[in-house]
Amino acid sequence: MDLSKRRFIQALGAAAAMTAIGTPVAVARERRYDLIIIGGGTAGMPAAIFGARRGLSVLVIDAAPQIGGTLMLSSGQMSAAGTKLQKQLGIDDTPEEHFQDLMRISRGTIDQEIVRLAVNNAAATFDWLVDNGYKVLPGYPVKGILHEPYTKRRYYWSALRGVAIFEAMRPQFMQAVNEGKVDLLLEHRAVALQMGKNGLIAAVTAEDSGGKRVNLHGKNVLLATGGYASNPKMFEQYSGLPKYLNMSYPYAQGEGHLLAQSVGGYMRYAEKYLTNFGTLLSSYDVPSTRLATTLFHPHLRQPWEIYVNSRGERFVREDVPSVDAREQALRFQPHFRHWVVFDQNILEKAPPILENWTREAIAEAFKARRPNFYQSDTIEGLAKAAGLPERQLLATIEAYNYGVTTGNDFFGRQHLPAKIEKPPFYAIRHQGTSVTSTAGIAVNNKLQVVRKDGSVIANLYAAGEILGAGATQGQAFCGGMMVTPALTFGRLLGSSIIKA
Ligand SMILES: Cc1cc2nc3c(=O)[nH]c(=O)nc-3n(C[C@H](O)[C@H](O)[C@H](O)COP(=O)(O)OP(=O)(O)OC[C@H]3O[C@@H](n4cnc5c(N)ncnc54)[C@H](O)[C@@H]3O)c2cc1C
Repeated sequence: MDLSKRRFIQALGAAAAMTAIGTPVAVARERRYDLIIIGGGTAGMPAAIFGARRGLSVLVIDAAPQIGGTLMLSSGQMSAAGTKLQKQLGIDDTPEEHFQDLMRISRGTIDQEIVRLAVNNAAATFDWLVDNGYKVLPGYPVKGILHEPYTKRRYYWSALRGVAIFEAMRPQFMQAVNEGKVDLLLEHRAVALQMGKNGLIAAVTAEDSGGKRVNLHGKNVLLATGGYASNPKMFEQYSGLPKYLNMSYPYAQGEGHLLAQSVGGYMRYAEKYLTNFGTLLSSYDVPSTRLATTLFHPHLRQPWEIYVNSRGERFVREDVPSVDAREQALRFQPHFRHWVVFDQNILEKAPPILENWTREAIAEAFKARRPNFYQSDTIEGLAKAAGLPERQLLATIEAYNYGVTTGNDFFGRQHLPAKIEKPPFYAIRHQGTSVTSTAGIAVNNKLQVVRKDGSVIANLYAAGEILGAGATQGQAFCGGMMVTPALTFGRLLGSSIIKA
């Protein structure tokens, strides 16, 4: 069993212990809390810890049988500028530089107000985790790993990934529960918000796994329910693409989004949808799991293959160093889909394109006709097998081979190690996918839910992925700009923004 799974199971054990000492529903029903937090995950946990520390009476309800939310699956990569660790390492960095980098990477598509709040307070969040045992991998921070790099080393990662963040927060959370400062109701889904006559949320209706409902009363309510990436209907509604990849937290069902909308909140930033450059899925089912990681990054492996779209045309310089350039190029291709095309010579000579796969294993996948692997002795046959137009694929390969012969690739590609000419010919289909939700609930600079007419629901707040990846990353993948803002907004809401 790998370490992260073992930690996950330990966490489940801890959560089970908390259920045993947790709050009886009958008690929670009678109280009026300063703060009800819906969702005890990445944003909800720090909100509870800091709220309790400030003396707020807090209730956390979570639909799942454990706390932690997406941290249990997340890579947990964070970004923060001006941290103590950077200072120790002599890295001179500021939130302003972080902000400017995000503007550059996202081409100005981030929500500037939300991002300023996040980056100005990110270092304090990161330092707090480190003070509580969070450890970065040797050599970190770095400028980037698999996303477009920053100009400064402000990108952090831990061996235990998201679980490391959870582990840094768990003791404080449990202490607050044990001391009676935080009440916890697991396996309770928030299903409705009750609006009072004064225009404020008066109660949250929660339902247990047996369908039994209870009204819970609070002066303030925080929606920290995560995204909608595990809800196929909502995912397709807001991204325009089916939910191809099954890798998000199962409770990321978009229920908080519906709760906010039920009292006048609205969704924004769907237009910023972006996928990664391409996932090799293990089946044609929708959703499917990921079969392998394909090495598309030239700094990890230079490409020997070409990439074609469903029209059989190349669409990007395969060795362009910018991660964002490849992702943006894919955005303009039908269904965010592409095929990696190569021949026997490349199969034999190039380093394997699938991470941790041997050449033999790749050859075997073609032979076994695994989903998304296609092989033929002719280019026409390959096109037929892969569902690509024959004449165009022939022309594309001929045009690429001209570039290999002359050094003048029509896309400006520099790495041109071999023509595609030796049968059999191969193609591996890749699908652009994303594991997070782009669109989110609109909030103001105090993270209060707002309506389209500009009016504010003064005691209803939202933090985390419910705000949408489009808010903190814009139409790009900006390293660490989901987890760090979620933690930071939870911390800020609990420690200062929410008034008792
Ligand atoms: C595989 C993967 C890798 C990722 N890697 C990174 C990364 O490296 N860096 C980065 O910045 N971001 C990353 N992300 C995104 C990031 O992890 C998430 O955006 C973030 O953790 C979400 O935090 P959250 O608090 O909004 O939601 P969560 O942490 O998911 O918490 C939401 C909680 O609300 C509960 N809940 C949901 N609905 C209800 C309801 N109706 N009633 C009660 N409770 C409810 C859930 O059970 C859950 O506990 C990754 C995501 C995935 C899936």
